[in-house]
Amino acid sequence: MSDCLFCRIVDGEISADILYSDDHVVAFKDINPQAPIHALVIPRRHISTVADLDQDTAGIMDHLTRAANQIAQDEGIVENGYRLVINCNEDGGQAVYHIHMHVMGGRAMNWPPG
Ligand code: 5GP
Ligand code: ZN
Repeated sequence: MSDCLFCRIVDGEISADILYSDDHVVAFKDINPQAPIHALVIPRRHISTVADLDQDTAGIMDHLTRAANQIAQDEGIVENGYRLVINCNEDGGQAVYHIHMHVMGGRAMNWPPG
């Protein structure tokens, strides 16, 4: 059994409110939403951080972004706008070390994010 929280969600060992799933990615609602719409899109394959992507795995960004855009479409936030975020390592604010793309919308986002 993996000790990675998000691998366990991919494997169905931990439940999550799944919004989207395909051969490459799984997306689910963030347990502690910071916006009316707050989803996480993760690759099925375990990769710790975005800094670990290389020539062989860079295609994952394409899968994450396409799924995120699909969720934004499904949730009706494309026209008003939304934010896609990937936190990397400590200063980037990463808490779970399995790459995930935040999809946030339903309210106006602040900039800079702090
Ligand atoms: P990070 O800070 O690593 O970019 O974001 C991790 C995100 O995962 C946080 O927004 C946090 O609320 C979310 N999260 C942590 N544990 C769980 C969980 O067990 N289930 C779900 N759905 N989200 C989680
Ligand atoms: Zn993992």
